[in-house]
Amino acid sequence: MKNHDRIQRFLFEDEPIRGQLVSLDDSWQTILERSDATGYAREILGHALAAVSLLASTLKFDGNITLQIRGQGALHMLVAQATSERTLRGIIRQSHKIEDETASLADIFQSNKIVITIDSGKGKPHQGIVPLSGHTLSEALGTYFEQSEQLQTHLWLAANDNNASGLLIQKLPGEPHDPDAWDRILKLSETVTDNELYGLASEELVYRLFHEESVRVFKQHPIKFSCSCSRERTAGMLKSLGKAELEDILKTEGSIGITCEFCNEHYSFDAIDVESLFNEKFSETVSSNTRH
Ligand SMILES: [Zn+2]
Repeated sequence: MKNHDRIQRFLFEDEPIRGQLVSLDDSWQTILERSDATGYAREILGHALAAVSLLASTLKFDGNITLQIRGQGALHMLVAQATSERTLRGIIRQSHKIEDETASLADIFQSNKIVITIDSGKGKPHQGIVPLSGHTLSEALGTYFEQSEQLQTHLWLAANDNNASGLLIQKLPGEPHDPDAWDRILKLSETVTDNELYGLASEELVYRLFHEESVRVFKQHPIKFSCSCSRERTAGMLKSLGKAELEDILKTEGSIGITCEFCNEHYSFDAIDVESLFNEKFSETVSSNTRH
């Protein structure tokens, strides 16, 4: 049976080679429902979310990892983020129709780089920049692993409106028993089809691809959509704009409305809320009054 919203690691028993499979269903559909992306833009967002889930689970860190592309093209912004708690969110912004879907990502975004940021919440976030080369994200992300981890890594990504999935194969440090193993496993991996990625349970897919190899499959982990926005965080952001600025908006608008671009959650602040932001005692009273 097909498993939903799961990430699965596996290891080739006798060789320093590991793999991971991710399959996103409900989490992906939730993100799509909140997105106004159409056509090929949806596919690229799906690839980015599958990729960032694989990255989060391959790299060791606590916090979040964000993959970003910003440019001036038909697509001008892509942000996909995964956390070490296995939550996921993402957006893509389109300025006009993609005329040629066979064009390179660099042309579609009019950008030459992918920025990958790992933020542990402590100290300065770690930022890696990868050239935006090739037609798919998987090609560019292979380069990221080679640069940042010195590990040969290949990714296969697939996305339609129901599912976003990915396979990652990585060569670890250490001497192989069989010098041909890496090439052989890559060749087997390359046979994976989009339909296999969408439709098969991960154990089944591992078996189908690698049944002649000896593979240890680990426990699966659930992955889900979650947005880290909150009323408190929005309030903190508003506070940083300063009281005068907020009072100006209140004068013309009556209240201040902020919509999270990741999840469409709407946060509204009226004059009393704004007053309370700058008055801690008052703020405690207001929040304890509104709690019940
Ligand atoms: Zn949100």
